[in-house]
Amino acid sequence: MAESPEDSSSQAARVLVSYRAEVPGVCARPGCGNTFVGRPNKRYCSKRCAMRMSRARRAANDPIESCINEATRRIDECVEDAMKRFQDCIREVMEDFRECVRTQVQAQRRRDASES
Ligand SMILES: [Zn+2]
Repeated sequence: MAESPEDSSSQAARVLVSYRAEVPGVCARPGCGNTFVGRPNKRYCSKRCAMRMSRARRAANDPIESCINEATRRIDECVEDAMKRFQDCIREVMEDFRECVRTQVQAQRRRDASES
């Protein structure tokens, strides 16, 4: 059965859409630069970037919005900073834990060896 032009054009559109879904995009928020694989109508890498952009647009009309944007940016930095310190802290604890286990096991072996 021959395809009608409508069939092949909608098929082409579907192929294009699925192709574009696989093509990495670059986030449209200035200063972000994240690439992402997303839907064809998606312009931002994340909800957060999309939200920030809509806030930035509103900020042009609402001066308080710029304060909110600045605070949000700094809170993000706080979270990033806290996460980094948290991870460093956990890493340090785990290294000490492993060292402690090693020391205790060696001590036990020495005790066992002197008893036998
Ligand atoms: Zn982004």
